[in-house]
Amino acid sequence: MTTWAGSLDSGSSPNPHPHPSPKPISSAPDAPTHPGAGRVFLAIHFDPRLLPHRIAKIGSASQHFIGAYEQGRKALSGMLDESHDGVCLDAMKSSSPPHIKLNKDFISDLAIGEHDAAYDAWMMKCPSALSSFKQITNHAKYKKIVLFLDYDGTLSHIVDNPEHAFMSNAMRTAVKNVAKYFSTAIISGRSCHKAYKFVKLGELYYAGSHGMDIMGPVMKNESVSDVPGCTISIEEQGNEVILFQPAKEFLLMINEVQSFLKDVTKDIEGVIVESNKVCVSVHYRLVDEKDWPKVAQCVHHVLKDYPHLQVTHGRRVLEVRPVIDCNQGKAVEFLLEYLGLRTSDDVLPIYVGDDRTDEDAFKILREGKCGYGILVTSVPKQTNAVFSLRDPTEVKKFLKLLVKWKKLEAS
Ligand SMILES: [Mg+2]
Repeated sequence: MTTWAGSLDSGSSPNPHPHPSPKPISSAPDAPTHPGAGRVFLAIHFDPRLLPHRIAKIGSASQHFIGAYEQGRKALSGMLDESHDGVCLDAMKSSSPPHIKLNKDFISDLAIGEHDAAYDAWMMKCPSALSSFKQITNHAKYKKIVLFLDYDGTLSHIVDNPEHAFMSNAMRTAVKNVAKYFSTAIISGRSCHKAYKFVKLGELYYAGSHGMDIMGPVMKNESVSDVPGCTISIEEQGNEVILFQPAKEFLLMINEVQSFLKDVTKDIEGVIVESNKVCVSVHYRLVDEKDWPKVAQCVHHVLKDYPHLQVTHGRRVLEVRPVIDCNQGKAVEFLLEYLGLRTSDDVLPIYVGDDRTDEDAFKILREGKCGYGILVTSVPKQTNAVFSLRDPTEVKKFLKLLVKWKKLEAS
């Protein structure tokens, strides 16, 4: 039986030794603002009467949205104009490290044993969060740590079939334990219900569909009316949850696109089209590389009729989602806002993720100098993360260390 009772870190006190660099996210140079509200980060209104429609107009959308829309539209147009599949194909290759590195425990162990010189050199720039643990906890003293954990490739190993990306019981226990001490959220490209079905911990927050589908326990004494766009709902097991779904008006459009994508890709062996509520994921992990151009062509063929949708790249997955200003970084900002910590000096957000889509969160934390991004990778990558972990096994170690440290600190 799950509960949605939040487990918020209560062990903080005023920081007598303020860290020289971390500061509130609100001071980040590109932090979004919303005229008149001051606390809105994802509040986007899209007139539902106009959707779903392939040529829907955006007359009622906010200026904030229009800016994001135009920016995204331009990027999408550029992508399509430059080459129908060329740019996309390059991105598909660059976002898909060699399969041999992706998912086998023994491969990771082998890489460690082989003393990969390139990885070691890269670690000089992005050191291990395990070997840097003392540094992290020194900065965390007197602060509330808030943990943001990606799911695929971070809590679970990457597997060929996304439906089989189960996390181990040991990992679940590690997440459960860490959530007793720190507010913890799962951030994923999957729908939040799907992420919840894998993680199965009701005390966590879930930001699914890249932050467009957020659900979590209702905080005591918190009035959701203070957080624009937030509503309270009753989930399947009868518990109250907060919901934040800024892209729900796109649901019908996304369903329609999902059907088209399934249809046009049905003859490409290995393609899996997965519904993630307000996103559609087109997995090509099982597709022969010679057929990747076909996958790219199919996706762009469908999307050219949907100017309000864009494609982003994950690890061997193309993700189709609404062109709105919403990503993992915005999800972090929203959750900190909901927790009442966004402008707090004594908060230390830590985001652990393995994917390009996690870079938005890493960037916000790095540029705002307010927290740490930790990239999970066994190969060198360009990143905005500050620290690294090699694989989910090291993620589990890191979570256990956090619990151990917190217990010692409290004793
Ligand atoms: Mg991931």
